[in-house]
Amino acid sequence: MNKIEVITNKCTGCTLCVKSCPYGAISMQQVEHELESGRKIKNLAVIDLGKCTYCGSCVEECKFSAINLEKDKIEISEEMKSYKNIWVFAEQRHGQIAPVVFELIAEGKKLAEKLNVKIAAVLLGHRIKNKVDELISYGAEIVYIVDDPVLEEFLDEPYCEVLSWLIKDEKPEIILMGATNIGRSFASRVATRIYTGLTADCTALEVDLKTRNLLQTRPAFGGNVMATILTPRHRPQMATVRHKVFKPLQKDESRKGEVIEKKYDFTNSKIRTKFLEFIKDTTAKVNLAEADIIVSGGRGVGSAEGFKLIEEFADLIGGAVGASRGAVDSGWIPYSHQVGQTGRTVAPKVYIACGISGQIQHLVGMSSSDIIVAINKDPEAPMMKLATYSIEADMFEILPQLIKIIKQEKGIS
Ligand SMILES: Cc1cc2nc3c(=O)[nH]c(=O)nc-3n(C[C@H](O)[C@H](O)[C@H](O)COP(=O)(O)OP(=O)(O)OC[C@H]3O[C@@H](n4cnc5c(N)ncnc54)[C@H](O)[C@@H]3O)c2cc1C
Repeated sequence: MNKIEVITNKCTGCTLCVKSCPYGAISMQQVEHELESGRKIKNLAVIDLGKCTYCGSCVEECKFSAINLEKDKIEISEEMKSYKNIWVFAEQRHGQIAPVVFELIAEGKKLAEKLNVKIAAVLLGHRIKNKVDELISYGAEIVYIVDDPVLEEFLDEPYCEVLSWLIKDEKPEIILMGATNIGRSFASRVATRIYTGLTADCTALEVDLKTRNLLQTRPAFGGNVMATILTPRHRPQMATVRHKVFKPLQKDESRKGEVIEKKYDFTNSKIRTKFLEFIKDTTAKVNLAEADIIVSGGRGVGSAEGFKLIEEFADLIGGAVGASRGAVDSGWIPYSHQVGQTGRTVAPKVYIACGISGQIQHLVGMSSSDIIVAINKDPEAPMMKLATYSIEADMFEILPQLIKIIKQEKGIS
């Protein structure tokens, strides 16, 4: 059991610990006490153990070493040690592997090398054997494949049944999935079924070589802090990662890999959902996550009408239209265009931010873009500081000029 206590004769009632606790678990109470020096103090820090998560922030903050924290030693069991290799769920739809899979293979391979294990891709579907070589050419050392008509279209229930069965059989140490629409719902279902932890939407992954814990970093508290989450008592460790957080390896068709074909018996399966029809979203002109150029508008755009200027400029330079939550919440553009923590993560070659201040929740979704151009009236806006090129201007003056020049160059009247 973790133990935490305030050492009464050291607590000066300074309130630093109260401010440092992210969980509101510490309060000052009027308890008269005496310090080691003999000085009388009126206030004492009191920890609410019902709220305390034993994170240790207060211990680090206390200048008087007045808080004592004893954390449980976590034993790594023999059962945990029997889990080996890193798996990437090779999400595919209609035979198209999701690009995030290749990014995860690249990052998983780095972690696997550190842990001295192998990187494997797990491919579920029907008539998908032709995808095995592609996974290997992007770095997978092993490909597990389950090819069955039941798995033709993605459905949570049969996919969860098969992956959970495979995990129990093969015992991977770490499983990575894309934080896609499929990955988000599927990963949580699998984690629950196999009774392990899951960290969603990671932005960085590392391994602790001593404990073999996966250090899963993601934004927390509205993006104001980055939290590193562990699954120290269970294996496998599971994480989902957004598209474009990591870069894929260069495709190399000379790479070799092992292919392990598995057969699952669905005879006793109770699958309650049925695939009826696939309806393609035809509303988005360009897939934001895949675009090389994105022109994004924020509250500075001022209206839905203002977005027509953004769209015209984006069209001319072959880009997609993005937006800040400020613009989406104002109802000027649909949510599908939102970039950021609660929108999409993008990493285009060029990101042009027009009238976007650059709050952290927006930056986490686009800061790994190769080149960032900011157009803003306020030179102090965080986006202007982050940008590769900052243009201090009114976007309604500069965009029409740029549009005019590009049209002239392209010979468009
Ligand atoms: C839990 C949580 C999740 C969130 N998720 C997201 C998210 O996914 N994505 C996201 O974007 N935000 C998100 N937010 C909101 C975020 O905190 C900001 O409120 C939002 O990004 C602000 O949008 P903005 O930059 O467009 O607006 P503002 O902050 O109002 O900035 C507008 C900018 O436009 C400039 N400007 C005004 N007029 C002009 C002009 N004519 N020409 C040039 N510049 C001009 C101003 O100088 C200003 O810098 C989230 C917030 C929370 C709490």
